[in-house]
Amino acid sequence: MQKFTHYSLIFCFIYTIIGTAQNVESPYEVAIWKGFSKSAISYTWDDNISEQLTVALPMYDALNLKMTFFLTTSFSANWDAYKEASENGHEIAAHSISHSNFGDMTDETLINELLNPQETINAKLGNNKCISIAYPYCVSGDINLVSNYYVSGRSCQGYVESQTPNDLMQVSSISCGTEGTVKTTEDFNTTVDSAITTNGWCVFLFHAIDGSGWSPVDSSELQPHLEYVAANPNKFWIATYSDTVRYITQRDAIIIQEILNKSDLIQCSITHNLDQTIYNTPISIQRPLPSDWEEATITQNGTEIPSHIIDDNGAKVIRFDVIPNNGDVFINKSGELSLEDNEYITYSSLKVYPNPFKEKVTLEFFLKEKKNVSFSIINQSGKKLYTIEKKFYSGKQKIKVPINGYKNEVLFCIIEVDGHQKLKKLIPTN
Ligand SMILES: [Zn+2]
Repeated sequence: MQKFTHYSLIFCFIYTIIGTAQNVESPYEVAIWKGFSKSAISYTWDDNISEQLTVALPMYDALNLKMTFFLTTSFSANWDAYKEASENGHEIAAHSISHSNFGDMTDETLINELLNPQETINAKLGNNKCISIAYPYCVSGDINLVSNYYVSGRSCQGYVESQTPNDLMQVSSISCGTEGTVKTTEDFNTTVDSAITTNGWCVFLFHAIDGSGWSPVDSSELQPHLEYVAANPNKFWIATYSDTVRYITQRDAIIIQEILNKSDLIQCSITHNLDQTIYNTPISIQRPLPSDWEEATITQNGTEIPSHIIDDNGAKVIRFDVIPNNGDVFINKSGELSLEDNEYITYSSLKVYPNPFKEKVTLEFFLKEKKNVSFSIINQSGKKLYTIEKKFYSGKQKIKVPINGYKNEVLFCIIEVDGHQKLKKLIPTN
């Protein structure tokens, strides 16, 4: 029996590694952490202590860093302040109703301690974002019950988590303040620096700040540390607890497939099979650009999404953040149309007009000799809306194409002569 378990574990382990790798087609790479940061940090604050809102929150806001508040709903709470914090990107999550030990209760009581704060928080904030819980006294109780209501639970084993925690229902956190192991600026910085070396996730657990209350941290010790992490986004991705959980789960489940690879356009699908009402945050991805591309833009659903190009040992690599299952992603070669003439066509003569257009576009080009030319118009999904293939005589040629009913879509036209393709973006208007 023991042997069986042993082999099963090894099998699961191998399967996980290969399964993940196979789902992301080369040469795409998914960042371990958003923005290709080397580690992730979450700052979690428990028990509704009022100075968390009056002292800590302004410190984080000034540096545009996000916090997580784990609320005990029977304790008094400034709901207006929590709602405003939530609207500003901070997280409000659950820490039970009564702050009792989850290990000492009946299933019925535990279900109430799980469900009731979630409903209260979602109702008070007007959203459905309460997906994580922090266990009172770090005692999870029946994990199977907890996982019926939450996607993750924070415990406090005191170590920096790996990039994919062993168990998202038992995530380790590190206790801070006078009763914890992390007190000074140096303690904080040493801890987060250790997360870099393992590409890990560091979850800090706070209670009081500067005042009375359990295990207060000194704001004068915390402030220089926050300035340090804010100044080093390449090293640290600072995110709420649940946004980090969302990132990890999507990163490990993502499926990337290249659909189209034209000389001026690359199309890929980026999806996962997770619950999209929860797992809907951007994931950082990179792909090397073809060697003759200088610049590129990324579009999804006809909207440009932010991207930047980095130099990777002389090769250009484009990085972008994309929400999976939100439409195919297009990497468009941009800048001037760098059309290289070939033996058949003078691409410098290629004109598409008017563009933007209303009902009709004209494609004009110059052929050096009699050739078959194919011309297509495709939409963002790669669907052909129009296509013509015809033998043209040498000299200046024109194709007029009526296109109606695509006013909110970005279209592309592709001209192809003897296997040489060129692409141009078309912008339909009202
Ligand atoms: Zn607590």
